[in-house]
Order: sequence, then structure tokens, then C-alpha cells
Amino acid sequence: VDDARLTLSVARAAHESGATVLTYAAVTHLCATPGKLAVADVVDRLSDRTCRVQACVIVNATGPWSDHVRRLADPKAPPRLRTTKGVHILVRRERLGNRGAVIFRSGVDGRVMFILPWGEFTYVGTTDTEYDGNPVEATADSRDIRYLLDSANGIFPDAALQEEDVISTWAGIRPLLAPTALTDVSASATSREHAIWRDPSGLLNVAGGKLTTFRSMAAEVADHVATILRQEFGRSSGTCFTEFIPLPGAPEEAEEALIDRLRGTEAALLLKASDIEHLVRRYGADAEAILALISENPSLAGRLVEERPYFWAEAIHAVRHEMAMTLDDILRRRLHLCYELNDGGLSVARSVAELVCEETGLEWGLDDIERQIESYAAIVHTTRGPLRPAGPSATQRHQHPDKGGRNG
Ligand SMILES: Cc1cc2nc3c(=O)[nH]c(=O)nc-3n(C[C@H](O)[C@H](O)[C@H](O)COP(=O)(O)OP(=O)(O)OC[C@H]3O[C@@H](n4cnc5c(N)ncnc54)[C@H](O)[C@@H]3O)c2cc1C
Repeated sequence: VDDARLTLSVARAAHESGATVLTYAAVTHLCATPGKLAVADVVDRLSDRTCRVQACVIVNATGPWSDHVRRLADPKAPPRLRTTKGVHILVRRERLGNRGAVIFRSGVDGRVMFILPWGEFTYVGTTDTEYDGNPVEATADSRDIRYLLDSANGIFPDAALQEEDVISTWAGIRPLLAPTALTDVSASATSREHAIWRDPSGLLNVAGGKLTTFRSMAAEVADHVATILRQEFGRSSGTCFTEFIPLPGAPEEAEEALIDRLRGTEAALLLKASDIEHLVRRYGADAEAILALISENPSLAGRLVEERPYFWAEAIHAVRHEMAMTLDDILRRRLHLCYELNDGGLSVARSVAELVCEETGLEWGLDDIERQIESYAAIVHTTRGPLRPAGPSATQRHQHPDKGGRNG
């Protein structure tokens, strides 16, 4: 499971337990006086509709945006974060030939780095440089790419990786806690620990930490919330039991047994044996839901593009069961076509948009589809950064299955 799928599973588990989960919803105004009901104004970025939410406790867990959100409740809140940018580059695995994960020190500056296998690809990362801009605008620049290539070439000299080998890049912002002492600590040496604190405004914050530690961070936050509920609102809460709830998609049987069982299903006859493995490795037990879509409509067993193992059924599944609301959600965040194809999946974007509208009730008119493609193309462009422009345009496109475009 990759990071995005893990995060998605956690959100789905919360939804299944009764939480309201909103994507593309941004808090624009906050008032969180201790001991009183807190209020947040929330805007849906897709429809521009706003609503007001009231709660006993509001937790600010917005990573690199934490200081920004704290200032919605108190414009004078002093900064707590030191944000740094981390960049990865993706190359074809055979270019380096690594079978496993490699951890090494960069010959450029001695920092610890990783070269990680990812299916047919390998990614090299990361950089760690000061960044105080808007997190959504972070992209790889040519210095980042040069540094990663030089570092990888240092331990794989025969590969002699060049910029032309880089298929795509991605950049993220680490929500690190600013060092409290007045010491000159480098970006890389900044602590990865987390902290939970309550601002005088009443907002409860959690920041810093790692994805790896998310469960223990969340458990600590839940304890703080329980204390506030008890002390300020006289409400008691039960014992936390989430550690015993399997995440959605967690199979009850061993992975190999699940693969064997699904290979015996009717829909599997339309696929290759390795396709079932692909589905199980990505979706766990939810692979069954994708096979059910294929049983209902066998044309969904076709691949979106010949060179990658993603099926039309996966695009439908992303919208119906994984909260995908935009082309970017489908092609970059749920499938990884954006990163894995030279053109970022633009050749298939229009057909995917048309198909999901027909199959899922997403109500995109022709103008909406154009806007979706345009904004997706802009995102693809940012994942290429200073590299070559993304390949074939959206006009040279694959067709979706019901229009004769099935290529599986
Ligand atoms: C390059 C890189 C490599 C990393 N490698 C590792 C690693 O190997 N292992 C590891 O454990 N960790 C790693 N991390 C760290 C890890 O990714 C982060 O610690 C983790 O993602 C932080 O999660 P978060 O939920 O706090 O923040 P985020 O994942 O950034 O989520 C914050 C959310 O808040 C939302 N938000 C922002 N403003 C608002 C608002 N006004 N209203 C509502 N929502 C809002 C954003 O849309 C976003 O969805 C890495 C980070 C980077 C950048």
C-alpha cells in the first residue's frame, strides 16, 4: 500500500464508523474560545458553497498549513513550524537495476537518501531545503533534480542517469516543528518529532511527526480531546478501540490465498493472472469490487493505456468508492498514471472524464470536462517541472471502452 492509499483507507474507515468526511473543503474562519462551542466556516472548493460547523473541540491537523489555520483563530499566533521541501524523481527501474530498497549517504553532501523500487519504476529522494511559500505551489526545480541525479549516480555510476531519464517528479512540504533553542540547525537536522498543544485561542493543534507515527499521534490527540470534553463540557468518552478495526480493504485471508480465490472468479477469465495480483496488491480485498464491475460490464476489463496495468473499472471504482471528485483525483491520486507515463495520462484524460460521467452520475457538462482536462494538464505540467513538456496532447487520445477504445 502506498502513502496515498493508506491515507484514503483511514478516511474511509472513519466514514464507515460514522464520521463525515469532506474533501475539497477548506476552513476559512475559526472561533474556538475554551469552554464554549467552537465555530468553523467551511467552503466547498468544488461548488463554492459554504456552511458553518459547530463543535466542542476543533483539532487543527493541517500539516504544513498548521500556522496558517492557527492564524484564522488568532491572527497574532506566533509561528511554530519550520517547513522544508522534499522532492522525489521517478525513473524506470531498469535504468538503475536495483532489486530492493537502497539507503545511502549522498556523495554530494552526506545526507541520508533512499532509492526505492515501485513496481516497474524506482524513485530517488529526497531533497530537504527550506521552504516558506504556499505548500500547494511547491515543485521540483532544476537544482533539486540535479542533486538527486548526482546523488543516485554516485552509487550507481554505470547508470549515468540524465534528466531525460526522469519521467516525473513530485514535491511535498514537511510540517516540521521549528527548533525552540536559538541554535543554527540545518533543514535536515530539524527534529521529526511531533507536538500537541492548545493555543490561547482554544484551538487544539497537532504538528510535526511522520506518516509512520500517525496512529500514535492520533491516539494522543484523541486523549487530549477526551480531556477537554470531560473538563470543559462534562462529557465522558469511551475507550479508544480503533487499533482493533481493520482498515477497509484489509483481507481476512492471506494475500496469496486471496489472489488464488479471485483467479477462480468469472471476471478473472477476462484478465491475465498478473492482473489479479496487480489488483490485490493495490486494493486488497476491494479487488473483489473491481472484479464485480468487470463482471457487470466486461468492456471495463480493458486497460486505460496499453503500457500500464490500470483498468477502466478502476476509474469507476475511484469515483464510486474512493471519493474521487476530479480528473486529478482519478489519474494522479488514485491511479498513478500522472507520474508513470511520459504524457502524465493526458492522452486518456478526456475518455476517462466521459466514462466516469456516464457510469457514476458525476454531472460534468462539456465545459466542466474541458475545465477538468485543463486543470489536470496544468498539474501534469508541474510534475515535470523544468523537464521536457508533457508528451502527446489531450487531442491524441485513447477512447473509452464503449466507444471502441478497449485495449486490454
Ligand atoms: C518529501 C517528503 C518525504 C517524506 N517521507 C516520509 C517518510 O519516508 N516516512 C514518514 O513517515 N513520513 C514522511 N514524510 C512526512 C509525512 O509525509 C508528513 O509528516 C505527513 O504527511 C503529515 O501529515 P499531515 O496530515 O499532518 O499533513 P498533510 O498530509 O499535509 O495534510 C494536511 C491536510 O490539511 C488540509 N488543509 C490545509 N488547509 C486547510 C484548511 N484551511 N481547511 C481544511 N483543510 C486544510 C490539506 O488540504 C491537507 O489535506 C515525508 C514528507 C515529505 C514532504
